[in-house]
Amino acid sequence: MASSGHPAEQVGLFDESGTGGSLFADLVFPGPVSKSWRYAVPDELAQQISVGKRVVAPFGKGNRNLVGYCVGLTSEPPPVVPKPIRRILDDEPLLSPALLRLTHWLGEYYFCPWGEVLQSVVPRPARLRSGTRERVFLEAVTPSLASGGGAVLTPRQRTVYEWLVRAHQPVEMRECLRQLGASPTVIRNLIRKGYVRVVRQRLPTVLPQVEAEPVGQAVELTPAQSAALAAIETALRSGRFEAFLLFGVTGSGKTEVYLRAIEKVVAAGRQAIVLVPEISLTPQTIERFRSRFQRIAVLHSHLADPERAGFWRQIAAGDADVIIGARSAIFAPTRRLGLIVVDEEHEPSFKQETSPRYHARDVAVKRAQLENIPVVLGSATPSLESWHNVQQGRYTLLTLPSRVQGRPLPPVQIVDMRHENARPGRFRAISPQLEEAIRTALREGGQVILLLNRRGFDTYILCPACGYVVQCRFCSVALTYHRDTDRAVCHYCGYEQPPPARCPQCDLPAIRHYGLGTQKLEAELATLFPDVPARRMDSDVMRRGARYGAVLDAFRRGEVLILFGTQMIAKGLDFPNVTLVGVVNADTALYLPDFRAAERTFQLLAQVAGRTGRGERGGRVLVQTYNPDHPCIRLAATHDFARFAEQELSNRRALGYPPFGRLARLVVRSPQEQIAQEAAQLLAERFRQALRELQQRQPAVAAQILGPAACPIHRLRNLYRYHLLVLTPKPAWRSCLIRQVLEKTSLPDSAELSLDIDPLSVL
Ligand code: ADP
Ligand code: ZN
Repeated sequence: MASSGHPAEQVGLFDESGTGGSLFADLVFPGPVSKSWRYAVPDELAQQISVGKRVVAPFGKGNRNLVGYCVGLTSEPPPVVPKPIRRILDDEPLLSPALLRLTHWLGEYYFCPWGEVLQSVVPRPARLRSGTRERVFLEAVTPSLASGGGAVLTPRQRTVYEWLVRAHQPVEMRECLRQLGASPTVIRNLIRKGYVRVVRQRLPTVLPQVEAEPVGQAVELTPAQSAALAAIETALRSGRFEAFLLFGVTGSGKTEVYLRAIEKVVAAGRQAIVLVPEISLTPQTIERFRSRFQRIAVLHSHLADPERAGFWRQIAAGDADVIIGARSAIFAPTRRLGLIVVDEEHEPSFKQETSPRYHARDVAVKRAQLENIPVVLGSATPSLESWHNVQQGRYTLLTLPSRVQGRPLPPVQIVDMRHENARPGRFRAISPQLEEAIRTALREGGQVILLLNRRGFDTYILCPACGYVVQCRFCSVALTYHRDTDRAVCHYCGYEQPPPARCPQCDLPAIRHYGLGTQKLEAELATLFPDVPARRMDSDVMRRGARYGAVLDAFRRGEVLILFGTQMIAKGLDFPNVTLVGVVNADTALYLPDFRAAERTFQLLAQVAGRTGRGERGGRVLVQTYNPDHPCIRLAATHDFARFAEQELSNRRALGYPPFGRLARLVVRSPQEQIAQEAAQLLAERFRQALRELQQRQPAVAAQILGPAACPIHRLRNLYRYHLLVLTPKPAWRSCLIRQVLEKTSLPDSAELSLDIDPLSVL
């Protein structure tokens, strides 16, 4: 876990010259180490080696072969006699010097060993050179005396040799064997006698391609779009770093601004990376880029291995102008990057939730800084981090205040569900107002989107007599009843069991199901609108093979009239015929024990509201809630992001929470509760001690050490979890404290520690 900082060996790390005299290479090995080792480069490899390639080198006492990344070349010998590198693996560097610098920074900032960072940013298929084959060619040469030349050839050898001479170019070995019926022994002997030289070349067998579309007609930019574009162009021309926040309501034409800016970049012979949330990587998004650009590469985790490796190679070779992808695309090995765009920059999916736990938006800003280029972050509901950065003068704000073509934002009506479900009778997911609105929209030929951010049928199973809630066997999480499979399922670890017929605690037969999930909504829609084609879209459906794109296409063609589901449907979709958006329950995230609960709720409401009113027919939004007076629901109803941000930021400021303070979260997990608790306690004490020591040297330093406390999800996958939050006004203080503590503290073997810098979730 501990990162060892800058060891002395790393001097001259990024010096790529290394000419003259003997050459040494600094290698980083994949795995939990940050340190680099200096090796000798044998003369015969000196031409081939370069920074960013992988090599095979002997390691440790047994000198076993390890693959390492060459991160620097130098003529400075190490203090002890270095071992020589054995072999070079890559024809082309997998990482540019700028990317190496970025990964190094990432390791330091997120406390992840450099070797591990390198291994995780280069996709496995690219490392394995998936979709390529090594081809072996034979070339006739005049034998020199030194290489045993002049040896007499057998008639068969002579035939093959003369054939190769006549070819005037290297011939693939397979071809040679096939056409001449020569045996491998003949060829081997020709090589031995110095008449034939072997040339190896790795060539792609798969050339992935995003097909080009006819060029779409260019629209005329609105004045606000023109102003935003002009600012970005000025930055592009100046060749320096600048971060822009493009704040524009849904449908205000942000994507059009990205497209225009990227056109300038491509025209100048440079590349652009466009990051979009995984869920927005729809054919719709890609199509829009296809209609403007010829050479596009797509990078995300659902590609087949050879395709993924192929796109990676194309980017590295400079054969792609625009790279569109989910968060990992920020590590695309572009040669001359000119611009980075992060669309929907507030999206939590940009944060990777396994080590290295990086946030792709933050990495994007860092990469732009390192490459001296502009970066554009776009959103209708910016993260409070980015909004704060604007207020601090670190980012430049560009605003698109209204929708294109003067279309208004849709009016939002709040439905108070406290009255609805207080009436006698059955619980209903859809209030009479919402039902009426759906009927009206359908009658007028419109389509409907309904958001319910909960999967399953019932969200918990409870005994009304003793209060027992059926929980996962491995997690402190209530099981959700799924009616389609008739199972009770844990949404955190996937555990499932048959739903109990009687209460497991008091044996009462009347155990009941409560709460509302998308499957229950499905049943209710089928009752209320039996003849209306409706489709559910949540990760349960999508897992079972119904493709996201296919459902959306059916909706676009009007074959589906009601589209309902989880947050998946809230984002990025552009369907002009959607005249009604209904939020079935606005409160699902509101009372989560997470300081971002209000921010998430606001974002979700604003985003889903943005799915309507995009066409000439206009649109409206109905929001059902049990908290009609909650400020974040009220402000979302008036589309007032600025007011919301102001209020929420003042709450955060009072607590010193992000974006005012910088947060780190340490989670200790163990199968034994006591061990987890004690280890967390020990860590907390070490942090408090480290803080006192630091304050003695630097009295200005301040930090809050919160906890330890049981995590809100106390048990997960059979492990007990305790956490500790470290909150400091300055990021440097946070790093300093963490480094101090990690260097000195070792936890019991049965406890695992994970460290999350700038955590997005504290559950
Ligand atoms: P956003 O990314 O802000 O949601 P888009 O760029 O997707 O907005 O624009 C919304 C719709 O308006 C799209 O269909 C787009 O083609 C169209 N559009 C964008 N800019 C203009 C413009 N200047 N004039 C006319 N239509 C535009
Ligand atoms: Zn579970």
